[in-house]
Amino acid sequence: MRTPAIFLDRDGTLIEEAGYLDRLERVSIFPWTIDALRLLGRAGFRLIVVTNQAGVAKGMFDEAFVRETHRVLTEKFAAGGARIDGFYCCPHFQEASVEMYRRDCECRKPKPGMLHQAAREHGLALDRSFVVGDRWSDVEAARAAGARGVLVKTGYGVIDAAHPKNGIEAAKIAENLMDATAWIIQEQRRWA
Ligand SMILES: [Mg+2]
Ligand SMILES: [Zn+2]
Repeated sequence: MRTPAIFLDRDGTLIEEAGYLDRLERVSIFPWTIDALRLLGRAGFRLIVVTNQAGVAKGMFDEAFVRETHRVLTEKFAAGGARIDGFYCCPHFQEASVEMYRRDCECRKPKPGMLHQAAREHGLALDRSFVVGDRWSDVEAARAAGARGVLVKTGYGVIDAAHPKNGIEAAKIAENLMDATAWIIQEQRRWA
């Protein structure tokens, strides 16, 4: 039996959007994030973080820093009883200054590569899954993978929500991750 998942964008969705997050002191978890993660986990979803980190390709920080950031987040979430099942990061960028990351990859959202990889590795049911993010590229990745996209109006979400993208429609536009969580759990009940 495949499990449904919530694919969570990181910056602007779980934590404050910081431009390029390049120092741990700049990590600021939204006050509702841990409660939302705990509720989603309890509702039976696997929780998977999917994050574009082009700052790696641009030489602003390295992959070790991204891993360290995710280790710190894991600890802070665990202290509040919430658990992330997997972290996936795209370090690539087409016009990267760091040559090894200069690539038109399949993982950078809006492409669905990270979702597909996580689905394989965790046995996920994409058609019963949701992607929550603050950019239309998150919603596009959802659609490309056959999941449902929720746009949150935190981070860049206020700007993106005000500028609809042709042909891209969110299943829901939510105020923040907690609002998205309440809607998702309600939707899940309707299916049951
Ligand atoms: Mg984001
Ligand atoms: Zn990539």
